[in-house]
Amino acid sequence: STGTNFQSLPQLPTGENMEKVKSMVDSMLLDDAAVQKMMSVLESEMKKGMSKDESIRKTSSCQMENTYVTQLLDGTEEGDYLALDLGGTNFRVLLVKFRQGKAESISRNYNLTKEQLHGPCEGVFDHLARSIGKFLQEENITNRLPLGFTFSFPMTQNALNCGVLVTWTKSFKCPDGVGQDAVKMLEDAIAKIGGINVDIVAVLNDTTGTLAAGSYLDHQCEIGMILGTGSNAAYMEYLTHMEKWEGPIDSPKQQVAIDIEWGAFGDNGSLDWLKTDYDIEVDLHSNHVHSFTFEKLFSGMYIGEIVRLCLLHLQKDGLIFKGGVSDKFSNRWIFTASHVSVIEEDNLKGTSEKLDGVLKELDMQNMVSESDKDVIKYTCAVVSLRAAQIIGAATAVLLNHISKPEVTVAIDGSLYKYHPKLHDLLMGVISKLSPSTKCKLILAEDGSGRGAGFVAAVATRLQKQH
Ligand code: BGC
Ligand code: MG
Repeated sequence: STGTNFQSLPQLPTGENMEKVKSMVDSMLLDDAAVQKMMSVLESEMKKGMSKDESIRKTSSCQMENTYVTQLLDGTEEGDYLALDLGGTNFRVLLVKFRQGKAESISRNYNLTKEQLHGPCEGVFDHLARSIGKFLQEENITNRLPLGFTFSFPMTQNALNCGVLVTWTKSFKCPDGVGQDAVKMLEDAIAKIGGINVDIVAVLNDTTGTLAAGSYLDHQCEIGMILGTGSNAAYMEYLTHMEKWEGPIDSPKQQVAIDIEWGAFGDNGSLDWLKTDYDIEVDLHSNHVHSFTFEKLFSGMYIGEIVRLCLLHLQKDGLIFKGGVSDKFSNRWIFTASHVSVIEEDNLKGTSEKLDGVLKELDMQNMVSESDKDVIKYTCAVVSLRAAQIIGAATAVLLNHISKPEVTVAIDGSLYKYHPKLHDLLMGVISKLSPSTKCKLILAEDGSGRGAGFVAAVATRLQKQH
């Protein structure tokens, strides 16, 4: 069975309309066959993405990028490292200090404006450089430090400190930057300002950072995952499985972190059968149309809009919102992941307190009946459960592939952190779909940022050894 716990869903009132509501909303969920199919499609896409044969690789929607991170922390790292975290909701600069194997970090936010996200990417990198400068000043740092740069976008890498942007994703939509090395762009911006004393030693995806941060917390960590604005995962792969690996392989135990880039899983049509009308509509109005199929099914940037579209559909069929909807609620993207999360808190407690706050914020408080409220809560629960089915099935594919008795998955991102049920829902799904692995899901708080410092520390240790 898929391990889907339908008992986690709240009750709807009785009545013919509610039967219809239930069947329409429930149709978003995956049945056993769909879960199995999704798993086997992902497995085969991953395999193709690692193929030696370029013509096979090209058919895969999973990039399976070599990150050049071949080692995680070994406990001997020392010193101070800077880290940047760009790509989610916040841009942050961190200082990570290693003292006798223990890491401590401080961070500051320097958020980008909407104009910067859509303007020439020079503006983005200038902002990063200026922020590093401010951070160094604010923290009174004068010595030259190694810097790890988390750049949470698909990149092609040919070294640890080189990452060529494949495409912007999520809320970033600069007209340029694709095909350019993120490290070079940052170095150029830093050089323009002058006086910023750093060495960019690594560029990495946030999932790789989270994997590194997870391995610091738990040495059985083999998977780093982001469930935030977007979604993706990285895992430790044996070079012997990584068919497209070009370097030497000294031992069958040698590994490298692979950035799956599962956000784009399905972009070749392999998941079309899974998409609902809501998913199709979300995509059509998104920043990057016809791409990032997988992350649009559940990640933080989109999950609220899926709920909103479903509710509007129910309204169109005369099943809810007889009093209409507010102008606010008619806006795309107005209903957010954070709304879904707080409404799920109500579902856990059997209250409507948080929902009332959300309705007020959306000017809907005087337009909804008690049963409308139940439907909103139910829809949030179903869309969350579907998210767990999809993420859980993908996680199980990795666990089954890694095939070890115990594996820890480190997760960072606002969706995982703030959704009150997602952890438990995922555990339910994963334990059924991957019964031979004892799996732990841990929050790697700040993993994508701290991880950049960790990878910089490992790179520095390796440099010294050579
Ligand atoms: C990007 C990934 C990133 C993920 C989570 C996706 O849109 O393509 O590189 O890891 O978002 O931030
Ligand atoms: Mg992040």
